[in-house]
Amino acid sequence: MTTDTDLLQRFLFEGAGVRGEFVRLGSSFRALLDKHDYPPAIARQLGKALASVSLLSATIKLEGSLILQVQGDGPMHTLVAQADSQGGVRGLARWQGEVTHHNATLAELAGRGHIVMTVDADGSERYQGIVELHEESLAETLREYFLRSEQLPTRIWLASQDDLAAGLLLQKLPEGLGPEASWEHLVTLSDTITGGELLELPFSDLLNRLYHQETVRLFDAEPVAFRCSCSREKIERVLLGLGRQEVDSILEEVGEIRADCEFCLGKYRFDRVDVAALFADAMPPSGRQ
Ligand SMILES: [Zn+2]
Repeated sequence: MTTDTDLLQRFLFEGAGVRGEFVRLGSSFRALLDKHDYPPAIARQLGKALASVSLLSATIKLEGSLILQVQGDGPMHTLVAQADSQGGVRGLARWQGEVTHHNATLAELAGRGHIVMTVDADGSERYQGIVELHEESLAETLREYFLRSEQLPTRIWLASQDDLAAGLLLQKLPEGLGPEASWEHLVTLSDTITGGELLELPFSDLLNRLYHQETVRLFDAEPVAFRCSCSREKIERVLLGLGRQEVDSILEEVGEIRADCEFCLGKYRFDRVDVAALFADAMPPSGRQ
């Protein structure tokens, strides 16, 4: 049985000016797979994307969420993974036709395309970055992204198998807190990690296996869980924004308002009575007769 699942473990190489994180997703990843019938190769890419956003969102200080979107011209034309600052993750992939090759790479699945990264600071500040898909892997694509976007040098190692996904991140801290040589050294050490180790070893064993000669400061592990941000209230706000007339005309046409969440498959239904109550509640008291 794999330990340290659904946890994110931060650590710091003292004196080297480099921080690190491990993440391993078990039931949080399963919760997402259970809702869709993903071909294994797509599930694997989804797992890696989910591990990536967990790792990266933990490096961002602001409240909000990080969204990674893959768009391509291949059979898997869309993949979305999102992590919020409280350790919530969700994601989905869309594809056409049959995906039979179990070990298909990201490039084989998504074809030619790109990755869009969005930082959504609770609806206000949005930062978007874009990078072309690297033919090798998501980790290589993210490496390019960090090289080009003038952010802190960052490297990521990813693994996903069946219903497990895991990742390791190293990030150089700003302002030359450590010598370049120690960054290179730590990257070289991390390059020796195997997918199996990343998926199965307890975090303490991983640290030992990779960095036993380094001085590592460990922080408390933080939980990661599947969490969808959809809600009936959000859909109510959309309906109120559309206005009574528009909503009534949809009701007229299809009988009820249906809004389904693509991430968690949550179903929201509003019939005539719901709509009447919604608009009655939303109306200011002076507007009531
Ligand atoms: Zn949802």
